Amino acid sequence: MSGIWWPLILRLVLLAGLAFAAWMIDGIVVALSLVTGILLLMVLHHARHLARLSKWLADPRPEALPSGSGIWEDVFAAFYHLLRRQRRSESRLTATLHDFQRAGMAMPDGLVILDGSNRIEWCNPKSERHFGLDTKRDFGQLVTHLVRQPQFAEALGGSYADPLTMRAHGGDLVLSVLIVPYEENRKLIISRDVTDRERVETMRRDFVANVSHELRTPLTVIGGFLETIADMETPNPELIRRSVPLMSDQAKRMQTLVEDLLTLSRLESEGNPAREEPVNVPDIARGLYHDALALSSARHKVTLLLESPAWINGAEDELRSAFGNLVSNAIRYTPAGGEVRLSWKAGADGGAVFSVRDTGIGIEAQHLPRLTERFYRVDRGRSRETGGTGLGLAIVKHVVNRHAAKLDVTSEPGRGSCFSVVFPASRVDEKRSTVQSAKSA
Ligand code: ADP
Repeated sequence: MSGIWWPLILRLVLLAGLAFAAWMIDGIVVALSLVTGILLLMVLHHARHLARLSKWLADPRPEALPSGSGIWEDVFAAFYHLLRRQRRSESRLTATLHDFQRAGMAMPDGLVILDGSNRIEWCNPKSERHFGLDTKRDFGQLVTHLVRQPQFAEALGGSYADPLTMRAHGGDLVLSVLIVPYEENRKLIISRDVTDRERVETMRRDFVANVSHELRTPLTVIGGFLETIADMETPNPELIRRSVPLMSDQAKRMQTLVEDLLTLSRLESEGNPAREEPVNVPDIARGLYHDALALSSARHKVTLLLESPAWINGAEDELRSAFGNLVSNAIRYTPAGGEVRLSWKAGADGGAVFSVRDTGIGIEAQHLPRLTERFYRVDRGRSRETGGTGLGLAIVKHVVNRHAAKLDVTSEPGRGSCFSVVFPASRVDEKRSTVQSAKSA
C-alpha cells in the first residue's frame, strides 16, 4: 500500500471515533452533522488542491509546482521528482542526439537519412556537396526530386545490394553510393568520393592498352617476316638478308620498351626508396657529353658547361638514366645543324641545376603539362622513328621526385627547348662540393 493511504485511513478512523463519541454523548443527529461537516471540509480541501494541480499541469515546470498540505504534500513531491527525472533523461537524450549529429557531420562520407516515403529526414554537410542538397532547406523533400540521376531513382526503388557508381552534383566527382535499408522502409544513403580510385583504374586500363599497342607493331613486323620466310619453299637469301636487320630493329625496340617499363616499375615500387649516396654529377655530365657526341654523329654542335663542382646525394644510376633521357631527347628532337648544350650550375639558395638546352623543334605550350605522362608524345611518328618509347620523361619525373628536385621545362616551337632538373640545397653534398672546388681553384 502506498504512503498516501495510511494518513487517509488514520483520518477516517479518527473521524469514525469522533462520530461514535458524539453519538454516545449527543445522539445520532449531532454525530451525523459532525461527520457531514468534516467530510465536506475534506472534500473542499481536496478540490482546492485538485484545482491547483490541474492549473499546474497546464504548464508543468518544477519551479512552479504548488505547495500542498496533508497527503497533497506527498503527491506534489512525487510529481516534482518525476518531473526532475524526466528532465534529466530528456537532456541526456538530447546530448546523445547531438553527439550522433556531430559524428554524422564529421563523417568523411555523405550521409542522408530517408523516411519510409524517401523524404529527407537528416543529411550531413558532405552529402550537400555530393548531391547538391541544402541541410536546412531540403528537410522533408523527396530525395528523388533533388537527386535526379535515373540510376539513383532506380536503385532506390529496387535492390540495394551493390554500391552504385555515379557522378556527383556538378559532375566533377565520381561517387560510390550505398543504399542501406533499415527499420520499416527507412533508408540510409552513404556516398563516398571515389574519384581518385576511378582515375587510377582508368590510368591502369590506359597503361595496359598502351603497352599492348606499343608491342603489337614490332611483333606484327617480326611475325610477318617470319611467316613469309616460313611459307617459302626455298629460302630467298636476298629477302632474309633484308629482313633480318629490320626484325632486329623491332626486337631492339621491344627490348628498350621492356627496359623502360622495368625501370618505371622499379622507381614506382614503394619498397624501393631512393638511395642516398654522394653522386659525382660533373663526372656524369662529362660521360653524357660523350654519349651525346656519339648519338649525334657530328650532326649537331654539342657543348658542355660545367660551372658547379657540386655533388648530389642520391642514386647514381637513376640520375644518370634521367639526365641521359634528356640528352637523348635533345639530340632526337633537334634537326641536323642544331645545337645541344649540357650544363651543371649552382642554383638559387645553394641548390644546383642540370640543364639540357637544344635548338630543336620545340613544343607547343599546351603539351607541356602532359609531357611526363606515360606514353604521351607530341608527335607520335617522330618519336617512333627515332626509337622513342614515350616513357623517357615519365622516368625523369619519377627520378626527379625521388630526389626532392623539380623538373622545369621551357620551350618555343621552332626555336628549341630547355629541360632543367633543379635540386634543392638539402640534396647538395656540401663536403664533396668544397673539396672539388678547392681542387679546381
Ligand atoms: P619519347 O620516347 O617519345 O621521346 P619522352 O617521354 O622522352 O618520350 O618524351 C615525350 C614527348 O615529349 C616526346 O614524344 C616529344 O614529343 C616531346 N619531347 C621531349 N623532349 C623534347 C625535346 N627536347 N624537344 C622537343 N620535344 C620533346
